Amino acid sequence: MVVGAKSDLNENPLAWLRNRWGVVGGAAILYTILYALWTYFHWGNSRFNPLIANLAFFPITFFTLIASWRVYVDKALNSRIRRAWFLFSLSVFLQIVGDVVAFYEDTILQLNIPYFLSDIFYLAFYPFVLWGLLTLPGVSLDRKGWLRFALDLVLVMIAAWMMVWYFIIVPAVNIQNDLIAPLIAASYPVSNLVVLGGVISLLSRGRRQNTMVRPSLLIFLAGLLCFVAANLLDTYFTVRDVETRGTWIGVGWLMAYIFFALAAIRQRSPLSTSYADSLVSQLLDILPMVLPFAAIGMGYGLVIFVARSNLTFDNSDVRGVFFGAAVLTVFVVARQIITLRDNLHLNDELRQFSETLEQRVAQRTQELQQSQEALLASEKMAIIGTLAAGVAHEISNPLSAIITSSEHLESELNVKRLSLETLGDYLAVITRSASHAMHIAQALRNQSRGRTPELVSQKISDVLSEALMLMEGQIKRWNRVKVVKEIDPDLPPVLCDRNQIAQVVFNLLNNARDAMPQGGAVKLRAWHDGAHVRIEVSDQGVGIPPEMIEDLFKTFFTTKPIGKGTGLGLSIVREIVQNHKGTIDVKSDGAGKGATFVVTLPIAT
Ligand code: ADP
Repeated sequence: MVVGAKSDLNENPLAWLRNRWGVVGGAAILYTILYALWTYFHWGNSRFNPLIANLAFFPITFFTLIASWRVYVDKALNSRIRRAWFLFSLSVFLQIVGDVVAFYEDTILQLNIPYFLSDIFYLAFYPFVLWGLLTLPGVSLDRKGWLRFALDLVLVMIAAWMMVWYFIIVPAVNIQNDLIAPLIAASYPVSNLVVLGGVISLLSRGRRQNTMVRPSLLIFLAGLLCFVAANLLDTYFTVRDVETRGTWIGVGWLMAYIFFALAAIRQRSPLSTSYADSLVSQLLDILPMVLPFAAIGMGYGLVIFVARSNLTFDNSDVRGVFFGAAVLTVFVVARQIITLRDNLHLNDELRQFSETLEQRVAQRTQELQQSQEALLASEKMAIIGTLAAGVAHEISNPLSAIITSSEHLESELNVKRLSLETLGDYLAVITRSASHAMHIAQALRNQSRGRTPELVSQKISDVLSEALMLMEGQIKRWNRVKVVKEIDPDLPPVLCDRNQIAQVVFNLLNNARDAMPQGGAVKLRAWHDGAHVRIEVSDQGVGIPPEMIEDLFKTFFTTKPIGKGTGLGLSIVREIVQNHKGTIDVKSDGAGKGATFVVTLPIAT
C-alpha cells in the first residue's frame, strides 16, 4: 500500500490530499475564501463585525490543533517528529487560549487597550514553535553548529528589530507617546522572522540527512510567511491605533493556520522525495547561507539610510538605530570568529589527512603488490598443472605402447614362439614410441632452456623429407587425416638446425590434424621464392577467427582441453623461426574455412 502511494505521490504532488483530512482541508480553504468575501463585503450589521472577526478564527484554529495533534499521536511516525508536533500543537493551543482571552477582553470586558493578557499567550507561540523545530530529526548539530545557528538567528532578530524599531515603533511613539504597546506589537513580526529564519536554515540542513520532514516543513514555511506578513501589517496599524479586526490581516492569519494544518496532514502521508529536488528546495539550500548576510545588509543599510537622511545624533530614534548597529556588529564579529576558527580547524584536519594519505597510499601499494604476487604465483601453479597434465598425457601414450610391446615380446619368448618377423615389428613399435616420448621431452627442455639452433647449411628439401619420415608412423595412425606433400626436390640450401625445423613441421602438422576432427587433407608445400624458401602447411579444418590470430603465438594460449593442448606449440614454432631469421604468417578466412601457416626462411649465401 505504501509503495503504491509512494509512486502515486511521485506522479502527483498533491496525492497526499486524497483522503478524509484532505477533504476537511478543502472545506477549511473554502471557509477562508468565504471569510475573505466577508472581509470585502462586510455583510450584515456592522455592530457584529468585531464579534464575527473574533469568532471566525475558532473553526480553523481547532482544525489546525486537531491536525497537529493527530501527528503527535501517530505511532507509526518517528518519535522526534511526534515530539515536534506535540510542541506545535501546544503552540496552536496557546493561540486558541490567546483568542479566547482576547475575545473576553474585547467583547465581554470591552477593554480599550490594544495589548493585554492575550499577548502573553500569543507570544508564547514562538518559543514553542522554535523548540518544536529544533526537535525535528535531521537537525542534529554539533556544539559549534548550534552556536552558529543561534548567532544567525540573533543576527536576524537584531536586524528585524532595527527595521521594526525605525519604521514602526518610533513613528508610533511619536504619535502615541507610549512605548510599551508598540514594543509588544513589534515582538510579533520579530519573533516571526526569527522562527522563519530557523525554519529556512533547518530545511537546508535536513535536506541531505532527512527527507522525512522536508515536504511538510515547506508547507509550514508557507504558513509562516503568511504569519509574518499579517503580523507586520497588524503591528503597523495597531501602533497607529487603527482597528485591524475584520480586515485582510485576518485572512492572512487564517491562511497561515490552514498551511500549518496542511503541513500536519502532509507529515502523516507517505513520503515523496520529489520535493527534495524541486526548485524551491534548491533555493532553500542557498538561503541559510545568505540569511545572516541579508540581516547584516539590512541592519547596516538602515544605518546608512538614517545617516543620510537624519544627521542629528541626539534624536532617540537615530540613537536606537546606531545602538542596534553596534550590537549587530558585535554578533557579526562573533560569528566571523567562529567561522574563522572552524576553517582553521578544517585546515588542520585537511593537513593531517594529507599526511596520513601518503602513508595509506604506500601501504595500499604494498598490499596490492603482495596480492599481485600471490595471483601470479597461483597462475603459475595453474600453468604448471596444465603443462604437467599435457606432458603426462603425451608421454603416457608412447610409454604404454612400449610397455605393451615389451610384455608381448616377453610372453612370446616364454612360450618360445617368437619369430624374427614379430620381433622386428615389436622392436619397431618400441623404437618409434620411445623416440616420440623423447621428442616431447626435448621439446620441453628446449622450451625451458631457450633454444640456440645449431645452424648448418643444408638442403631444406632433405630436412623436410627426413622430418616427414620421422613422423610417418604417427601420421599413419591419424584418423581420416592424410598429408599431401608438394615439396620441390631441388630446394636451395638454408642455414638451419634440422631437428628444430623438424619440430616446426611436426607442430604445424599436429595442429592441422587437431583442427580437422572430421578428417580431411593437410597440404605440406615447400617452394623457392627469390631469396627465400617458403614452407606452407594448410588445412581444411575449423579455421581461426580474426580476433584470435593475435593470441595464437602467445605462450600457453590454447583452446584445446586440458591434457590435449599446452599452448606451447606455436610459441615454440615462432621462436625457432625467428632464431633462423625467418618469419611465420598465418591466414584463415574465418571459422570453418581452414588455416594456412607459411614459414619463410632466407636462403644460405
Ligand atoms: P596447442 O596446440 O597446445 O593448443 P598451439 O600453440 O600449438 O598450442 O596452438 C595454440 C592454439 O592455436 C590452438 O589451441 C588452436 O586454437 C589454434 N590453432 C593452431 N593451429 C591451428 C589450425 N591449424 N587451425 C585452427 N586453429 C589452430
